[in-house]
Amino acid sequence: MEDDPFEAEAGFAGLGLRAELLRALTALGYEEPTPIQQEAIPPLVAGNDLVGQAATGTGKTAAFALPLLQALTTEGRDGGPAALVLVPTRELAEQVSQAVHRYGRELGVRVLPVYGGQPIGRQLQALQRGVDVVVGTPGRVLDHIERETLRLGDVRTVVLDEADEMLDMGFAEDIEAILAETPQSRQTVLFSATMPPRIDGIARRHLREPVRITMGREAPAAGEMPLVRQSAYMVAKAHRSAALGRILDVEMPTAAIVFCRTREEVDQVTEALNGRGYRAEALHGGMSQDQRDRVMGRLRGGSTELLVATDVAARGLDVEQLTHVINFNVPAAPEAYVHRIGRVGRAGREGSAITLAEPREQRMLKAIERLTGQRITLEKLPTVTDLRARRLEKTRTALQASLETDDLERFRVVLDSLADEFDVENIALAAVKLLHEAAGGDVDEDDIPTPAAPSARNAQSRDARPGGGRERRPGARGSDAGVARLFFGIGRRAGLRPQDLVGAIAGESGLSARDIGAIQITDRFSLVEVPEPAADMVIAAMQRSTIRGRRPTVRRERFMR
Ligand code: AMP
Repeated sequence: MEDDPFEAEAGFAGLGLRAELLRALTALGYEEPTPIQQEAIPPLVAGNDLVGQAATGTGKTAAFALPLLQALTTEGRDGGPAALVLVPTRELAEQVSQAVHRYGRELGVRVLPVYGGQPIGRQLQALQRGVDVVVGTPGRVLDHIERETLRLGDVRTVVLDEADEMLDMGFAEDIEAILAETPQSRQTVLFSATMPPRIDGIARRHLREPVRITMGREAPAAGEMPLVRQSAYMVAKAHRSAALGRILDVEMPTAAIVFCRTREEVDQVTEALNGRGYRAEALHGGMSQDQRDRVMGRLRGGSTELLVATDVAARGLDVEQLTHVINFNVPAAPEAYVHRIGRVGRAGREGSAITLAEPREQRMLKAIERLTGQRITLEKLPTVTDLRARRLEKTRTALQASLETDDLERFRVVLDSLADEFDVENIALAAVKLLHEAAGGDVDEDDIPTPAAPSARNAQSRDARPGGGRERRPGARGSDAGVARLFFGIGRRAGLRPQDLVGAIAGESGLSARDIGAIQITDRFSLVEVPEPAADMVIAAMQRSTIRGRRPTVRRERFMR
């Protein structure tokens, strides 16, 4: 008999993980391993080196973090760190540390993020007390090695996460120097969203007979792809819930499934939607079969319009009324996307598939497009003006329906008694206003900011040489409409290198290193090209941070050539 798919422990336990980790995953609401976890965890637990092609959003962090934690000994942890994870940005260092901490809570794992810009004193104290896992950016890790505050002689596993980004940022030489400090016998794991030859070179030089994993290769069988309208919205994590509500307001689905990653997320989203006046119900693997059947009954009967579900719980679901599938985040694997959108557009019915994505998940969307051979249209979030127009439209439709079908005679006395005193047109307007307000009225919300969308054009024109000596032609794309040039009041005299700028901008603003265009460094100042929509956000982010210990002026360049 098959394992009960609703037990997280069944899915993850099948990968040979220890009980402490399984309990942590269940508590986090993870129901089953993502494909990359399924494939990567067993060979990593067995001690193999591994090269994985996987982007953000695939669950790659847990794919390497769980095996690290699996190998952690609980006694005699007096030596140096047992694992080192190198990441390109501060933001990722923090995210990965938090993930390691969450998964390894029961094991009492001591994890430390180290990155530039943070006071080194705090890092030194933590290192002295002892840590099991260090997650750091290459520059700062090398800094600690040179100060002899970080010794890597006890490291059993090194992970290079987002290796292509690290190379793009000019960290190749730093990475080589760091690897040289770790034992030859170590296990080495490399994750990268793309596999350019330089990454392959690193894998060949530093990994031993690695297991290779590539995601998103299994094309759907002919006829498996339903014909549905596919679109995506770029939205920052903090605004995702508000964006979902707004999209639903405009789309007005008859019935929809909103897919989430975890049980916790399902509960949060359900609550938020109910708060917005929708009849939404949760469906996840933590519920009994009976509870799930009741929820499905209410959806079919029309008393529930939205189902908020995990993949596991929605498997095999066939609901005739379903008009929309909404992905609250990009699914962990392109194949999962195909399964999800298969819930609509069945048997010739029409449907829509809508995906909310963070800018850094853009690559996952591309991978999905490659797999399905279909386009996902990027759309702009409805603005407050759009919403107002939509609500007025709804009011108009309701009035039209009433005019066409209702018997309105018994209200004539009201009209006649007012008509002596007021103009009939004005009476009609007042009635419309009351109806509109009764149906929810105007929108009392702010517009949701659109994050900067990474641009493929910039990605292609990147040029990074090993050793970090990247100096890109200034003004090469200076006349491009979509590019803003920023002035940084810091230059070569302060020891500034291109990778410091890229690191600071990517780390602080969340922009991908690939989105940063030409960089020009002079003695006293520097000019950096960033996508125009992101310019103000970058300036704001830089005002909160330091570069090489300074807080330089950052503004738009005043004199565009
Ligand atoms: P990553 O690709 O590592 O950045 O992970 C993307 C997101 O998926 C993170 O928010 C994780 O917490 C979440 N996640 C990772 N693995 C799973 C899983 N097996 N089930 C549900 N969520 C997951």
